[in-house]
This record gives sequence, structure tokens and C-alpha cells, in this order.
Amino acid sequence: MHKTLNLKEVYDIILDTLKQIIGIKSASILMRNEKGGKLEAVASMGRGTGHEARVTKKYPLKLENKTIGEIRIHSLLPQKEKLTNEDNELLTILAGQAAVAITGAKLYTASSQSVVECMTDGVIMTDQNDEISVLNPAARKMLMYRRKNETGIVLTKELLKKARNFDLDQLLEEMRTSKQDVFTKEIKISNSYERILTVQMSQIKGEGEEPIGTVIGLRDITEEKHVERLKSELVSNVSHELRTPLTSIKNSTEILLNKIPGEINKDQQEFLNMTSRNTERLNTLIGQLLQFSKIESKRLKVNKKLISLQELCDRVLDRLKPQTLEKKITLKRYYRKPIPRIYADPDKIDELLTNLLGNAIKFTPEGGKISLSMDIMTSSKIPWMGESKASKKVEKSGKYVKISVSDTGIGIKPEDLEHIFDRFYRVDQSEHTVAGTGLGLTISKEIVQLHGGKIWAESEHQKGSTFNFVLPTIRRRKR
Ligand code: ADP
Repeated sequence: MHKTLNLKEVYDIILDTLKQIIGIKSASILMRNEKGGKLEAVASMGRGTGHEARVTKKYPLKLENKTIGEIRIHSLLPQKEKLTNEDNELLTILAGQAAVAITGAKLYTASSQSVVECMTDGVIMTDQNDEISVLNPAARKMLMYRRKNETGIVLTKELLKKARNFDLDQLLEEMRTSKQDVFTKEIKISNSYERILTVQMSQIKGEGEEPIGTVIGLRDITEEKHVERLKSELVSNVSHELRTPLTSIKNSTEILLNKIPGEINKDQQEFLNMTSRNTERLNTLIGQLLQFSKIESKRLKVNKKLISLQELCDRVLDRLKPQTLEKKITLKRYYRKPIPRIYADPDKIDELLTNLLGNAIKFTPEGGKISLSMDIMTSSKIPWMGESKASKKVEKSGKYVKISVSDTGIGIKPEDLEHIFDRFYRVDQSEHTVAGTGLGLTISKEIVQLHGGKIWAESEHQKGSTFNFVLPTIRRRKR
């Protein structure tokens, strides 16, 4: 990062240079004040003791022919007898450079202060003792009582905690334990009514990389959250409303296909089969939208039971067999070791496996191969352990069941691979037109995370893909 000096540092450097390079013991820097132009001392060093050589010389600090201040030399170090001509020349050059440096530092301080002051985002800065040193108007507005004359109020952490439920000490603590460069958190504060803020925090480091303070950015996202909630409620309500007529269409089609009202001819059967397949697809889409709106509003819950993953996998594979037969895809299963029963939500794991195997079938051309393998592994053998921040949710030790779904399908390019778990992400497949919503993998990831596991994918474009996930084999029930 570009290091910009503050004014005090610039004065210190100038005085230190006078001492080290020229041998001056006592000197001061004077600057013209803002209004009348009177010179005022802003920094000095080495008061005279009376024993050293005394000189009084002035060197003007000039910028574009305007004198903005001066350097005054009072006395020299004992080993120096007098200022030589060479010293004089050097001092004149130094004064010129000092004028530029001082003006630059002044401008920087003023502009950075006004940027912080004008920002619509809240900015708080703390010093090395964790005390508040800067609190810009936007932060003040977010955290304060809405009083007209608020400048007189002394803002302390205690006041913010008591009055606004804004616990800065706890946030600083969380930032330090997170060890992240930028720590982000969503918090609620109680103003006259509740507000939701995102807090972004990072440490300010000194020259020796030691922390000398923290900068905290605040953004009020209450309105955004409100709109988000309305959208997700709308999706959820519409999906529910669509489900009822769809179930009725599905039931009627089945009744007709089962010839309960009477015989049907071949053409009629064909059309009814088409209706049945499409209602099934619509049903899946609506199900995905409902799941997604639950994820968005953090309402997706798991109902864990002791289950056998082997039995569950067999069930899903059997159910998908007709689709693989239709595409002449070979389906293999490899269960390498006896797999212990685990605590998991059977419906959610069923949905997860159906998503992954469904994708594998969708994206594998006729005659391809799909395999499902299951193995036990310890966390240290899991390649992603420690790589991602999300992995800290996964227990550090212990055994995991790893399930992999591999296919010999169209594969995924590396640039797409990092996004496929993002919501609504679909790879642009001009050469393959495959229907979908881009929600299946988002839901799958959420299901795995709700079980304390992790999902990841490996793929080679045009060769095939492998989707892996691990679930902890915890023996006790986690509530
Ligand atoms: P959908 O399948 O509904 O489009 P998903 O979230 O399940 O949504 O998948 C997102 C995208 O990831 C898919 O559109 C596809 O491009 C890619 N993808 C997922 N699984 C596979 C796979 N087995 N082979 C190739 N591409 C895949």
C-alpha cells in the first residue's frame, strides 16, 4: 500500500534530516497561520543548553514564490563549529523540498478527512487502545439518537452498546479471532426501530506490520433486506399456489392413463404420457423454487435421523434407472467399505443425490457411464480441508463419508467450475440445449452445509465431471 505521511511525521523527518545531515542541534519549523499570515511554531527540536555554538538563521519555506513558513536554526551540535557555504546551499534545497512535502501532507489530510466526512457509508476508526478516534456523520446518523445538535455528544463504546446494542468490543474481538484481512458481519442495532447493518472491518497496520488501529465500515441494508424478504415471500406464495392446480392435473392424468374412466387409444395415451412427464418437470421446478425461497429466508431446516446411506443411494439409483436405460448409460456403484449409519435428513439427502445424479444423466451423452462411489475418510485426507473459510464449520477431526458421482459427460470448463454452485448459474451451452434453473447445485450445497459437510466438483471439459460431498459420521444426535 502506498504510504502517505501525516503532517507530524513530515515535520519530524525534516528536523531529523537537519540533525543527521548538517549537524544542527536545535531548530524549529514555523508556518503561516490560515488567516493573517502570522508565523507560528509547529515543531521544534533540541532546546539550547547555552554551551553549544549559537546561530540564528532563517530559511524560508517557499512554494511557487509564496512563503508558507520558515525553518529557524538556533544552535549546532558540539562537534560543529559553524555553518559552511555548502551547508547553506544544502539548507536552501532542503527548505524547498520541505515546503512541497508539508503542502502535500496537508492536502492529503484535508482531502482524506473530507472524503470520510462526505461518505454515505458509515466510517469508524479506532486507535491501538480500541478507542473510537473517528466517527463520520453517516456512522453517527446510523448509531446515534436522531438529535439535531449531536456534535456535542461524547461517543464512547459504552454509550453505543447501551443505547444502540452496538457492541464494538465484541466485533473487534471477532475480527481478531477470525484472522481474516477483511472481516464482514451482518448485525442488528436498535435505533428508534430495528436496523440491519453490514459491518466491514480491517486492521490498520504500522510500519512494522503491528496493528495500530481498526477501520470499520457500516452500511445500512435494512431496506434491501426488506425487499429481499418480500421477493422471497412472493416466490414462496406463487409456488404454493401453483402446486395445488398442478397436483390436480397430475392426478387427473394418472386416472386417465390408468383407464379408470374408460379405454383410451394409442394417440391419447401418447399425449397423456407427455402431459404426465411435463407435470413432473413442473413439479420439480416448483419444488426447487420453494426450497430456494426457504434457503433465502433461512427457513430450510434438516430433520436428522439415523439412516443407512447405502440403502438411500440404492433407492435413488433404482428410481433413476429408467432414465439411464433410455439414454443407454451404464450405471455403476462402488461401496468400498461397510459404511456406518449416519445422522442425516433422508429426504434432503435423497434430493441431493437426485440432483447430482440427475445432472450427470442430463449432461452425459448416450452410451456414457455414470458411477456412484462411497468411501470413509478422515478429515486430514480430504483435499479441501483448511483451504476454505467455510471448512472451519467442519469438525477438525473425525470420520466422514465421502460420496462421489462421476460421469463421462460434457464436462465443465475451469472458468465455469468456480461458479456452478452460485444461484441461477448455468453454463452457456450453445451446442447442448439442456433445460434447467441453475438452482439444483445451490440447493445441494445448502443441504450439505446444513449437515456440517462440504461439496466440491472436479471436471475436465469434454471428458466428464465428478461431484464429491462429505458428511460427518457423528454418532450422537446434534441438536
Ligand atoms: P441446472 O441443472 O438446473 O441448470 P444446477 O445448479 O444443477 O442447475 O447446475 C448448474 C450448471 O452446472 C448446469 O447448468 C450445468 O451447466 C453445470 N453442471 C452441473 N452438473 C453437471 C455435470 N454433471 N456435467 C456437466 N455440467 C454440469
